[in-house]
Amino acid sequence: MSPIWLQEFWRLFIFILSMSFIGFLIGQTLLLLLITTIIYIVWHLYNIYRLENWFLKNNQLPEAAGIWGEIFYQLYRRQQRHRKRKRRLSLILKRFRRSTAAMPDAAVVLDNKFEIEWFNIAAKKLLGLKSPQDRGKLITNLIRNPAFATYIKIIDDYEKGIKLVAPNNPQMILNFCMIPYAGNQYLLIAHDISQLHNLEQIRRDFIANISHELRTPLTVIQGFIETMRDNEDVAMKQWQRPLLLMDQQSNRMRNIIEDLLFLSRLECEGVQKNIEKSINIAEIVTSIYEEAQLLSTEHNFTLEVDKNLTLNGHAKELRSAFSNLVFNAIRYTPAGGEIKIRWYQDMEVKHFAVHDTGEGIAPEHLPRITERFYRVDVGRSRDKGGTGLGLAIVKHVVNHHNGKLRIESIVEKGSVFYCDFSW
Ligand code: ADP
Repeated sequence: MSPIWLQEFWRLFIFILSMSFIGFLIGQTLLLLLITTIIYIVWHLYNIYRLENWFLKNNQLPEAAGIWGEIFYQLYRRQQRHRKRKRRLSLILKRFRRSTAAMPDAAVVLDNKFEIEWFNIAAKKLLGLKSPQDRGKLITNLIRNPAFATYIKIIDDYEKGIKLVAPNNPQMILNFCMIPYAGNQYLLIAHDISQLHNLEQIRRDFIANISHELRTPLTVIQGFIETMRDNEDVAMKQWQRPLLLMDQQSNRMRNIIEDLLFLSRLECEGVQKNIEKSINIAEIVTSIYEEAQLLSTEHNFTLEVDKNLTLNGHAKELRSAFSNLVFNAIRYTPAGGEIKIRWYQDMEVKHFAVHDTGEGIAPEHLPRITERFYRVDVGRSRDKGGTGLGLAIVKHVVNHHNGKLRIESIVEKGSVFYCDFSW
């Protein structure tokens, strides 16, 4: 028992005892005991009244003796602590608002129904929000874009963000990112990426144009090389080897140009455009398997396909990606190695997989292996006729199909390249 309760108990005990004694002296013990009880109850009721009054009017702390004094004091201390915390929180909130107001990015606080609670100055400029009219409005009524409406509904996609044209300026490109916080609130950040977007566009156009421009002169050069190689003239005999090398190198150049053009097309085309329904992937994979067998008689190939498993997408792109993986397996697996090609479904996900028992890829190369022109060994890749663009194409095609390229590899043991499709 706490000392304050002990004190209260003694106080009550002495009070009852003295009242009983007086009652005994005057021969009215029961009456005095009743009066004692009434006084005690009235004292409690009075203090409850003061407590309620204090809560309602928030005036000066009431003073009292005994247990009520302690209760008032403890409540007062709690109230002080609460006020201090509230002051600190409002100071933090003020600082947060001041800093977000100064931010060049638009920041919008949304409630659990995606209604606007607060926004900073940059949000007025970048998103065209108006204060106070737009407070309490649904964000999707102000950023009227179906892609945005879909993005904010799928919490798993929040990290990826979404690039969209600014609602009030078609020249401006914004990257939107939703951040959930405090359980049921969201912070929407919009960052102006117009400059980056334009640079990216310039890079894409440059690669597409230069590849296109190089293709025509190269075709002419290749035509002449072919004619000269076919020439039976004795004087041309000594030129046969240089011509053969020229032919090989110009072929390599043509392959690079074709791959670059293909990559540019993949980057420019919208993801959802011209989707073919229920593509017969088993047929595509079987024909790649047959081509691979013709290309290399030194490897052992196995094929495992689910004939009923189809996919929606772009048949040409998929064929190119899958054959890139199979031809890479041939390229980087020594003679006598095993190559297994699979098309199967596991749970809800469809997989295309190529297993090989080749040289494998060291873990430090894996994060960059799908970048354009990234090779583990540049010399070897060139010798084997690689362009350095194969995996970049595969990654683009798989992403184009809402899929994921997954690589598992052990040096000297082999690799498995998976294309996982969830639709
Ligand atoms: P490349 O035209 O050089 O093959 P890719 O983009 O197809 O270009 O592949 C990039 C690099 O990844 C290759 O240079 C090679 O080092 C490595 N690589 C690709 N596939 C395999 C594989 N099946 N086994 C081992 N290494 C591979």
